[in-house]
Amino acid sequence: MRIKECETFILKTPLGSQQFYSSQCAFPERSSLIVRIETEDGVVGWGEGGQYGPPEPVASCINDLFASQLVGKDPRNVVRIWEELYALVRDFGHQGPYIEAISAIDIALWDITGHVYGQPVHQLLGGRFRDAVTAYATGGYYRPEDMRPDGAMVERLANEVRAFGEDGFTIAKIKIGLLDALWDLERVRAAGEALGENGTLLVDANHAYNTATALRLAREFEQLDIGWFEEPVVPEDRRGYTLLRNSVSIPIAGGECEHTRYGFRDLLAEGCVDIAQPDICVAGGLSEFVRILALATAYGVRVIPHVWGSGVAIAAALQALAVVPLIPHSAHPVPLQNEPVVEFDRSPNPLRDELVEQPFQLVDGQLPIPTGPGLGITVRRSVLEKYRHR
Ligand code: CA
Repeated sequence: MRIKECETFILKTPLGSQQFYSSQCAFPERSSLIVRIETEDGVVGWGEGGQYGPPEPVASCINDLFASQLVGKDPRNVVRIWEELYALVRDFGHQGPYIEAISAIDIALWDITGHVYGQPVHQLLGGRFRDAVTAYATGGYYRPEDMRPDGAMVERLANEVRAFGEDGFTIAKIKIGLLDALWDLERVRAAGEALGENGTLLVDANHAYNTATALRLAREFEQLDIGWFEEPVVPEDRRGYTLLRNSVSIPIAGGECEHTRYGFRDLLAEGCVDIAQPDICVAGGLSEFVRILALATAYGVRVIPHVWGSGVAIAAALQALAVVPLIPHSAHPVPLQNEPVVEFDRSPNPLRDELVEQPFQLVDGQLPIPTGPGLGITVRRSVLEKYRHR
């Protein structure tokens, strides 16, 4: 069995008046880099690489470098191919688009291998611990009108979070970090009240704070029983992470900007996080996820992947989440406590909602793990062409 070809698709769709903001940037459009790999006998696998960054550099890494390396190789040698591609770029590309490109290829090769053996990827990775994963809603982004904060802004956010509860979510995450910290504290209070007593609110600063501000807020969040404080400081500030983690009782989460087992080794060894958040499409694909998972369990750190992107990325994350053990083990799995949850972005994204035939829909607050061969999805070629950027 040999790889015949490797094709990339840059998908883009403008959001128009639905544009939103995190603490770091505006989102005027949604985009995804999708890769399609086909074998000589016609087996096809799909992958996705990258998250917020532009898809063009990731596409270039695949088209200008990796694609020619893949042709003629046995796609079932997924881990071996990972090492070969990484060795090719180690001297200059151990982070960023090169690793995002390897992530996309790795996911597609696991998809192919699953189709060849007629098994879902999670079966090939050792079998699933669960049939479905409790989903948390990610939202609470800033709107253009929030740039001048007022009571109406807080009310808009509360309404959005209330709607998550009505949709069946018991856990929701909102963005913080764009405004003055006191305004963000107001938003967090209002969102927590809107979610209700039985809900758990998570907050995500996208590394907007210095250590002093993050610590001051973290102490307030402790009083509000916030489920986790995500990316409080910049990813390079490992001492800041460690200081926060040692100073407050609420869990500190991070890792969506980290790449490969080597990045996570340092994050874990320095005691930065209670919850590691590798993104399957960024950190090195499913092969690397398994290795990061092994490292994290050795440190007693929970693993809850960061999820963004199209239906391909969500399917890959669900395959990964299927194989996460209880950390730590207990006879009784409790979501967030020892049982993983899946990030389910609720900001506008037609690529998430339309690209694959199998819809991702909550069943009793959970997303089922796809059980079909490979990633368990069918990509709609018409949607691929509809959003293809040329
Ligand atoms: Ca995040």
